[in-house]
Amino acid sequence: MSTKRLAIIGAGSSGLVTLKHALERLPGWEITCFEKGGTTVGRWGNPYPGFFSTSTKYTTQFACHKKWDSSADPAQREAKGDFFKGDEYGRYLMDFVAKNNLAPHIHLHTRISRISRDPQGWRLTIDDGETREEVFDRLVICTGLAENVNAINAPIPTVTPYDPVPSGKTVVVFGGGESAADFAHRLADPKLGNKVYLSLKDGIRVSPRYHPIRGVPSDFLRNRLLLSIHPDLRNAIGQKFVEARIRHQEWFERVFKSSPPGPEQTPSFQERRKHWDAKLTARAKDDLFNVFHTKSDGFLDDVADGRIQIIGPPTDESHRRYHDFDRTTTVEVEPDMLCPMIGFRSGLAALSGGEILITDFHLACLHARHDDLFLVGFARPIIGNIPTMSEMQAKLVTGIMAGWYERPADLASKQAESRARLLRDFPTLNTETIHPVEMFPYCDELARLMGSFPSLRKVGSFRRWMKIQLSPASTLQYMDDDYNTREMDEQVIHTPPVITVLLVAIKLLLDLPYRLVRGPLARRHSQTSLPLVPERP
Ligand SMILES: Cc1cc2nc3c(=O)[nH]c(=O)nc-3n(C[C@H](O)[C@H](O)[C@H](O)COP(=O)(O)OP(=O)(O)OC[C@H]3O[C@@H](n4cnc5c(N)ncnc54)[C@H](O)[C@@H]3O)c2cc1C
Repeated sequence: MSTKRLAIIGAGSSGLVTLKHALERLPGWEITCFEKGGTTVGRWGNPYPGFFSTSTKYTTQFACHKKWDSSADPAQREAKGDFFKGDEYGRYLMDFVAKNNLAPHIHLHTRISRISRDPQGWRLTIDDGETREEVFDRLVICTGLAENVNAINAPIPTVTPYDPVPSGKTVVVFGGGESAADFAHRLADPKLGNKVYLSLKDGIRVSPRYHPIRGVPSDFLRNRLLLSIHPDLRNAIGQKFVEARIRHQEWFERVFKSSPPGPEQTPSFQERRKHWDAKLTARAKDDLFNVFHTKSDGFLDDVADGRIQIIGPPTDESHRRYHDFDRTTTVEVEPDMLCPMIGFRSGLAALSGGEILITDFHLACLHARHDDLFLVGFARPIIGNIPTMSEMQAKLVTGIMAGWYERPADLASKQAESRARLLRDFPTLNTETIHPVEMFPYCDELARLMGSFPSLRKVGSFRRWMKIQLSPASTLQYMDDDYNTREMDEQVIHTPPVITVLLVAIKLLLDLPYRLVRGPLARRHSQTSLPLVPERP
């Protein structure tokens, strides 16, 4: 039998975690990872000086490379120590590469410039100074989402977050995602002397990095009990809760002992911040969980301080006149630069001459027709992070290649069904270019396919299962080779008992009856419609 060849394109977090699992699960295969750059840290490894991630270290780490637990040290709040800073994530990935001896399998400075179908598998055009073609039996594409920023057509120079930050300029940033808010915040640094506008079509949802409840990262309050409530109810109740949290921030901090409390602010600053937080939240389109949340909450301080002015979309193509955010009047702006942060393109179509499209993949990782083609790192979380979702995808696709999990025979029809579901659930997002998911329901779906979902039966102990329901949701809770009972038992529960009681009441009195009534008509279902595959040996 000839040696099987697997190519992985990209050595960011998705490519690296795929490589690690492929090497372990596919002994005897020839496995090569191609990276066009000179490092193995991807886009997020060391983005810019002063960078702070919006996902916590705890929830972003790979289950197979654990470094952090969920204990939140209040002293870390000021320094945002629960989040990756500067090149910290890059160093985490370099440690991952070293520990798993991945380097010999990675070809740096090697760009894949073309992918095409071949009778034997996939033909790659490989450029590493010289150009050659090679054919591989299996292909996993891990080229990331952050590279190809959508452009706007305007007669004004553009700037991206990857360019040097301009100073002394008038800049209009477009878009309400995390990258847009983050870049507007960087531009608004008083030392730079920029005049900054953020142009928004709709409102945006801002989740504070540190929540007024207990002063812990918001990620740490998201537990499985909360996530088990039907999205329709979570949306309705969650929206009211978020509005109350904004209006009564000080009350929350006092009652739920946010220690130490947030930074001291003048009453008028607080009022302005609240005003904009409430206004942006109220105008956010769609359900709570169908809107990307920005945790780049620093930009709200700039808005409150007048360093960023929120405006509406441009009224014409000159990009010099804009609606105001309330659409009651217009605002004249003389921008030196525009920064379009209005989404990303996957780059898959360009790389494959239109042969590979993100819409053809089931669960954003299994191609509907080609059983030898996979994506890792292309599902975009509404709230959550890409690296740990990538690890779940990597486990699934390498497990399928290794024969641990079955690939359903009728994947094309499943793909059509799940595509229809995506269009229904995310009507205002362009699902031709991104695959939006709610992180934990999505990961649960993958975990169920792999038989690692922590059901009560699988956990085997009610006490331990309750602990999993109440501690911060993370991919460490899936019961595969990386699951560690002791570490799970030691995770800290941050949700205050009164909120837990409330959630249990909602679960019993609202959620269960709601699910019974809605039954098969339930709009969203966390249960996969794919046949459950046997657990791996
Ligand atoms: C400033 C910033 C902040 C971010 N914050 C967060 C956050 O808080 N949480 C979060 O989840 N995500 C965040 N992201 C998104 C982040 O980019 C991803 O989470 C992470 O980088 C995804 O890893 P990836 O491996 O899928 O893609 P990437 O990191 O983009 O890696 C893809 C790799 O593929 C290589 N490549 C691309 N094309 C080719 C080719 N044709 N041939 C060979 N190699 C190729 C690239 O050089 C790159 O190294 C942030 C991104 C930025 C820029």
